[in-house]
Amino acid sequence: MRIAIIGAGAAGYFAAISAKTHHPKAEVCLFEKSSQTLAKVRISGGGRCNVTHACFSISELSKAYPRGGKNLKKLFPIFNVADTIEWFEKRGVPLKVEEDGRMFPLSNSSESIIQCLQKEADRLKIKLFLQSAIVALRQANNTIELSFQRKDTSTQNFDKVIVTTGGSPSLKGLAWLEELGHTIAPPVPSLFTFNMPKNPITQLMGLVAEKVQIRIQGTKLKSEGPLLITHWGISGPAVLILSSFGARILSDLNYQFKAQINWVNENNSNRIVEHLQEIIQLHPKRKLSNERPYALPDRLWTYLLTKIEVSPDKIWGEMGGKAMNKMVSILSNDVYELNGKTTFKEEFVTCGGLSFEDIDGSSLQSKRIKGLYFAGEVLDVDAITGGYNFQAAWTTGFIAGKLLE
Ligand SMILES: Cc1cc2nc3c(=O)[nH]c(=O)nc-3n(C[C@H](O)[C@H](O)[C@H](O)COP(=O)(O)OP(=O)(O)OC[C@H]3O[C@@H](n4cnc5c(N)ncnc54)[C@H](O)[C@@H]3O)c2cc1C
Repeated sequence: MRIAIIGAGAAGYFAAISAKTHHPKAEVCLFEKSSQTLAKVRISGGGRCNVTHACFSISELSKAYPRGGKNLKKLFPIFNVADTIEWFEKRGVPLKVEEDGRMFPLSNSSESIIQCLQKEADRLKIKLFLQSAIVALRQANNTIELSFQRKDTSTQNFDKVIVTTGGSPSLKGLAWLEELGHTIAPPVPSLFTFNMPKNPITQLMGLVAEKVQIRIQGTKLKSEGPLLITHWGISGPAVLILSSFGARILSDLNYQFKAQINWVNENNSNRIVEHLQEIIQLHPKRKLSNERPYALPDRLWTYLLTKIEVSPDKIWGEMGGKAMNKMVSILSNDVYELNGKTTFKEEFVTCGGLSFEDIDGSSLQSKRIKGLYFAGEVLDVDAITGGYNFQAAWTTGFIAGKLLE
């Protein structure tokens, strides 16, 4: 049996290794269009490679995927986070967990992951072909014929083909798969930060508010978590989660929308009033600047007071009803006009890709072309940050490589 894997990224390597492991007699060829393999693994996680996330509940894990979560839920019982940890550990690459659940190689270097995958592929005698872009694919009798951009070999035939070409920023990049009868969810960016250039809040750049809620006006989109103020807008987990879950809606809005920030993660305004009244009772003689509600960061509290035109030198005991109302409103519903996005440099992915409509959900085999399989980001699968995107590549690569009928 001849098996071809198209694209030597995380999913491609995993699919090739799985194919050879499950079908040891097969000839496995891994084709890569560029002159380098595993390029994204190398730069991932700031050069440390956030391999996976320490989430061991399959239903929780699936929730990290705004696209493809339901499909992955059926695949995770076969290869999940625990399997990833064991797989790398068995091959001499132990992983460690950080406080937020992200998992990295103990070496703190993506090179460990790259070397591990390459060593395993070499050991299994997987044939690697660089600078070999596949430009077309068609069914020919019982085989699949691949056409290359290379001058030397124009076509080659394989019994099974696994496509692991990664995310494509444009529909054009997926046209060759669409021509085969597959439905494509149009690609749009995911995992980006929100721009509000010149907004006075950007003067607080570097500041983190630990637990905020953000809602996008006119939509059902909301998130909570830490928010980071940058010199061009807002970032941090609360923003990245919204950019992921709202990827398509925000694209439709042309990245122009209003965000309502609840700085204190409290939706009940009576409770906020109670909290403020408690401060008044306990510290009536203190200045507003000296007694911060909800332990808000100093600079943020002063900024919010300035925004509602209440002097930070005012005494808590002298707060009138009007100032109190303004305070409750700014703490729970501070509105910002967003205009544009910035790519999150540490990790970015594409929302969209090959729809699961035309793929068998258990084997990842095409319903259109027998013997054709898919894995990785070419599928309409993507996640929030934290190692989930690689986990999807490991899981789908492993399963596609089994070449189940
Ligand atoms: C800067 C950055 C940092 C990231 N950090 C993390 C992280 O720490 N943790 C995490 O979980 N996710 C991270 N991600 C996301 C993660 O890298 C991707 O989800 C993952 O690489 C997808 O793997 P893949 O194998 O499907 O695709 P890719 O890694 O994109 O690999 C696809 C391969 O196919 C090749 N190819 C494409 N077309 C053809 C063709 N026609 N013929 C032959 N070869 C072809 C490409 O050259 C490429 O080598 C990061 C992404 C970026 C951009």
